[in-house]
Amino acid sequence: MTRRKQAAPDKITAPVKAGLVKPMTARATTPEPVDAATLAEIFARLSAANPEPRSDLEYLNPYTLLVAVVLSAQATDRSVNLATAPLFARADNPAAMLALGEETVRHHIRTIGLFNTKAKNVIALSRILIEEHGGEVPRAREHLEVLPGVGKKTASVVLNVAFGEPTIAVDTHIFRVSNRIPLAPGSTTDKVQAGLEAIVPEPYRLNAHHWLILHGRYVCKARKPECWRCPIPDLCRYPDKTPGPA
Ligand code: SF4
Repeated sequence: MTRRKQAAPDKITAPVKAGLVKPMTARATTPEPVDAATLAEIFARLSAANPEPRSDLEYLNPYTLLVAVVLSAQATDRSVNLATAPLFARADNPAAMLALGEETVRHHIRTIGLFNTKAKNVIALSRILIEEHGGEVPRAREHLEVLPGVGKKTASVVLNVAFGEPTIAVDTHIFRVSNRIPLAPGSTTDKVQAGLEAIVPEPYRLNAHHWLILHGRYVCKARKPECWRCPIPDLCRYPDKTPGPA
């Protein structure tokens, strides 16, 4: 069965266009990516600082992870967690979510952006999981990516977190960090994802997604990277490092 999905707006590169983040594509100002030894040292330090990284999203099983990631588009993980705690207490599987119904799902997630569309998607994907996958979340990327509200990034997160696949879903944080250091510079999230998946050393592949996203979210922030408390300032080649907190 072929399903048509609308292309999502490019919210990751939008901050560049809006002038909030410096463009990453000008080769004259973008340093060469770090070499293999430096790359390994970067991940060794990120690993030492956070040996068992976890998603900030709260979930109970692969299904609730899938729903939480779908809800997190253009929303903070905190806002999603606040909405999903009572929602997942009532429905932690596709059948229970269908029984709950779209109107009740919409009420639970009304504090999250795009809640009308997301409520429709949660109900629609739950129905497909029941009708086509025995009520389970499929482990195949091609089956995940055609679910309503699920794209390449969401599929990568589910494959990585729920099934232990060494995928690296590139969100706005990973896109920024990868271009700043730079690890795998690229003008699109697809290019950055392909670059990272090609170069991240094997021992770090499973958790690379979490280390980079958490590093970008809490340290290498968009407007003002907190370089003074970064574990890799001597390895990073970003020319506009922030000298101190003042
Ligand atoms: S040194 Fe600064 S720019 Fe480089 S990774 Fe650390 S926080 Fe980001």
